[in-house]
Amino acid sequence: REVRSKFPRYPGLERWELVEKMGDGAFSNVYRARDRTGAYTSDVAIKVVRKYEMNSTQRANILKEVTIMRKLDHPNIVRLLEFSEAKQYYYIVLELAPGGELFHQIVKLTYFSEELSRHVIIQVAKALEYLHEEQGVVHRDIKPENILFYPIPVVPSKNPKPRQAGDEDKVDEGEFIPGKGAGGIGQIKIADFGLSKIIWETNTTTPCGTVGYTAPEIVKDEMYSKSVDMWALGCVLYTLLCGFPPFYDESIEVLTEKVAKGQFTFLSPWWDDISKSAQDLISHLLDVNPERRYTITEFMNHPWIRASGPTPRDEK
Ligand code: ADP
Ligand code: MG
Repeated sequence: REVRSKFPRYPGLERWELVEKMGDGAFSNVYRARDRTGAYTSDVAIKVVRKYEMNSTQRANILKEVTIMRKLDHPNIVRLLEFSEAKQYYYIVLELAPGGELFHQIVKLTYFSEELSRHVIIQVAKALEYLHEEQGVVHRDIKPENILFYPIPVVPSKNPKPRQAGDEDKVDEGEFIPGKGAGGIGQIKIADFGLSKIIWETNTTTPCGTVGYTAPEIVKDEMYSKSVDMWALGCVLYTLLCGFPPFYDESIEVLTEKVAKGQFTFLSPWWDDISKSAQDLISHLLDVNPERRYTITEFMNHPWIRASGPTPRDEK
């Protein structure tokens, strides 16, 4: 007799054995799943979306998410494997990111070293570079819950860094292995294209008007939407390095005001030992003026990103 699964029985998903729940969202549950046919040799992630709770706009958005993901092919973006639907559900079969959310890893380690932060943020940036420059797609929901990873084993540090103020709960992330990572974090995978948008179509053979005749508001729209991802990238980098976000307040009104004014600080003592170069890069990303804010190309060319080798916390 078959053992009863602890998860609901989803019509049309019989092929898959649901192994564990990886996460959830407003209308979805995401499971790690195993192919009973053996066609997929490794586990996958299945996003089960409750269609019956959604209105027609929300349903259309799921189809848009799938349409966008279908054309993406990048090592730092979760791959779409299959899509199907039943009367009540949509099933989005995705490449599994076995480590889960970067968010949990920040909570676990408190904050990341500069090397590990760079290892993570460069991969997020490579995904954005591909989306912005090659695919004409803006993600619009870059945050630690949507940044997933492949785990690697932690190699204990030979010389653990001395504890400092704010380090009370810090778990040692271990040695940084060049090209591999640290703190259990290997390859990064961006997920959740639920809010993403196409700013220009790639495989249109007919150009929509000669470039020289494109109105400034069209060009600016494209620029502004990309700059939204760059702001979020700055927020993520800030959070990785110190363990708390650049903008926070109990009151949503006060928080909104702080964001609108771009009011953030490199709070002492947490930022005292983080390089001025990292702070400079963050300041160029968290610029309230979207026309001045760093683009992905400027980000990639910043000295802190180009720096290879160790960036010890005591090197200012
Ligand atoms: P929502 O749009 O509801 O936020 P997401 O696509 O972000 O849905 O998925 C919700 C959560 O499920 C993620 O934050 C993550 O924890 C988990 N998840 C999603 N996709 C994967 C995946 N490919 N591998 C592992 N976990 C995933
Ligand atoms: Mg999400």
